[in-house]
Amino acid sequence: MKIGFIGLGNMGAAIAANLLTAHHEVAVWNRSADKAKPLTESGAVLASSPREAAAGREVVITMLADDAALDAVVEGDDGMLAGLARGALHISMSTIAVATAERLTAEHGARGQRFISAPVFGRPEAAAAAKLFIVAGGAAADIAAAGPIFSATSQRVFSVGDKPAAASLVKLCGNFMILSAIESLAEAMTLAEKGGVPKAALLEVLTGSLFNAPLFHLYGKLLVEQRFTPAGFAAPLGLKDMRLVGQSAEKLRVPMPLLSLLRDHLLQTIAVEGDNVDWSGIGLTVAKNAGLCQLASLCRGGA
Ligand code: NAP
Repeated sequence: MKIGFIGLGNMGAAIAANLLTAHHEVAVWNRSADKAKPLTESGAVLASSPREAAAGREVVITMLADDAALDAVVEGDDGMLAGLARGALHISMSTIAVATAERLTAEHGARGQRFISAPVFGRPEAAAAAKLFIVAGGAAADIAAAGPIFSATSQRVFSVGDKPAAASLVKLCGNFMILSAIESLAEAMTLAEKGGVPKAALLEVLTGSLFNAPLFHLYGKLLVEQRFTPAGFAAPLGLKDMRLVGQSAEKLRVPMPLLSLLRDHLLQTIAVEGDNVDWSGIGLTVAKNAGLCQLASLCRGGA
């Protein structure tokens, strides 16, 4: 397929590389052009603007940090909307607000363009291994048309119906639960550690019994090894997601008291550890609040 790919960060670069491996024709654009170099060396064409990345392509994929970044590449004279042909398809893989997915559905519809929201579960390693889980919302025919792209980049696609915004909402629900799991795991590990049980020993019991889920294996290892930099999923992006969860919760009148706690802990983590920490670095905040870092050098970089 002739694909335009916009946004070559941790996730986008890995996804675009897999599309090239699958022999698609890919034109790439990124705000910082240097990130395109490994892809152009592998056969991608460098576009000079989002508009050019979209022009003459059947499909354009966006994988950008947040709603503001997406707006910046979509709108304007050099924006993707201006370049995309009637009948062409925009696949938005970023984690974005439900309201943004609704707005894009209308904007593309008004131009006779097609739009699906297809956010993903899986960190950059999963993206590189083409093992993402994709949650797709949009017209069934458009999701089917994206099949060759999804099969080159993911292990499974979940279709959640004909409204793109539904996929964004499902993704936000999932990220709320991931951070809840990291927080509870970090609290349990801190309790065990302070009581003299190594975190790794606790994790072995949990993942070998009732908590044998990929999430607990993945984040349990990060927490045991305290591997919070370089960030696979940067804490500010996690904070953005908690904000978007809150927006939907307010709109739909759903009290989510746990969300407030997670948001504050993540903000505290960013304030103390900086913007470049992984969101699982929330474990440092939990440990520090229990005085663990004062007791021993248990928190790398700790007080
Ligand atoms: P990232 O590494 O920070 O990359 C962000 C991308 O957005 C970069 O290409 C960046 O361009 C671009 N960007 C940011 N602000 C922009 C602006 N104002 N105008 C134009 N481009 C802009 O983020 P990521 O980890 O790849 O995440 C991308 C999306 O996937 C996010 O929505 C995230 O929530 C979601 N996601 C991430 C993970 C994960 O584990 N990392 C997993 C699932 C979903 P520059 O290179 O110029 O900065």
